[in-house]
Amino acid sequence: MRLLGQEDKETLAMALDHSGQRATPQRETVFGVLLDQRDHPTADEVYARTKSRMPTISMATVYNCLETLVSSGLVKQVNIEREPTRYCPNLAPHAHFHCRDTGRVYDVPVPEGMMKDLAKVLPGEYSADSVELVFRGHLAKEKTK
Ligand SMILES: [Zn+2]
Repeated sequence: MRLLGQEDKETLAMALDHSGQRATPQRETVFGVLLDQRDHPTADEVYARTKSRMPTISMATVYNCLETLVSSGLVKQVNIEREPTRYCPNLAPHAHFHCRDTGRVYDVPVPEGMMKDLAKVLPGEYSADSVELVFRGHLAKEKTK
């Protein structure tokens, strides 16, 4: 387990500050959990991982932390069909690949302009705040990571 580095702490503090919030040990720990293992965990998984670092934390607090991280723009929610919401701290433009065999979700980097180009297919009267791109299929060979 890795503690939150100075740079990550500053990123967190700045983003929270922008949305009128403060960094707390709980928020730092939940953010660290997301940064450490970027496998798009569900809230339950984030709770289990956070609890191993901070045994006294409650599920409600973890939910609140996740909500705060999402609202401050540090973490994105990923919704795949009927599955529980997953969380992703990767802020670079990327698509997701959902493996039907394992249920895992992987990041696929996408060139900066491509997501904007995708939004251009929208007729003028539509205005999109975000674009999500999800590939579904299966990996020929399960990645080791
Ligand atoms: Zn992602």
